[in-house]
Amino acid sequence: MQLIILWDIDHTLIENAGVSKEIYAAAFTALTGAPPTVGASTEGRTDRLIMRDMFRRHGLPEPDWSIVEAALAWAGEERLGELRRRGTALPGVLDVLKAASSRADWVSSVLTGNIAANARVKLAAFGLDALLDLSVGAYGADAEQRPDLVAVARQRVQSYRGLPVDVPVILVGDTPRDVEAALTTGSGIIAVASGIHGRAELEAAGAPVVLPDLSDTAALLALLEYVPGRP
Ligand SMILES: [Mg+2]
Repeated sequence: MQLIILWDIDHTLIENAGVSKEIYAAAFTALTGAPPTVGASTEGRTDRLIMRDMFRRHGLPEPDWSIVEAALAWAGEERLGELRRRGTALPGVLDVLKAASSRADWVSSVLTGNIAANARVKLAAFGLDALLDLSVGAYGADAEQRPDLVAVARQRVQSYRGLPVDVPVILVGDTPRDVEAALTTGSGIIAVASGIHGRAELEAAGAPVVLPDLSDTAALLALLEYVPGRP
């Protein structure tokens, strides 16, 4: 059966070990000339929203998005080595991405708050980029609110891969915002408690399925075949 799987990146596929927050801080510093006094609030927010909040909290006007995005991309590229040193792909991720990419009837891509350039850096740091079709993913520059990214990815899958409009979409992610993005767009959701949000919190957000991590490849593939709540 045809299926579109959209993986979140941070705390779902990889642990960035704090490098992600350093990217926001470095971009902010490059744009304003001074380091932030308050760190970035991430947790499933898009890069557009994260950077807007940072400027707002510091009482500063936000530069044009194109300038902010360029600063984020520069800061991300600079930290590829740091990500490799400190971060890691999470347990089971390599195996399940390989299995999903081998299914001819599945499209396996990302839905992430990261801008596309930094999504690629974070995945490439751990050899995951070649296992995903990043051309049809949805990224932090594509919308401010995470739920709006689902339609972006769906549109790209239709345009580039020629799939019909009614192919089910399943999100896999670690935050209540991933759950919300699925529930408000008629998508399925597999929540994974590998970030700071525990099972109870993800269930309270409405996730019908919460896994501790992605290490059980067979169970995960079986779930992808039938996710409760999927249209
Ligand atoms: Mg995440």
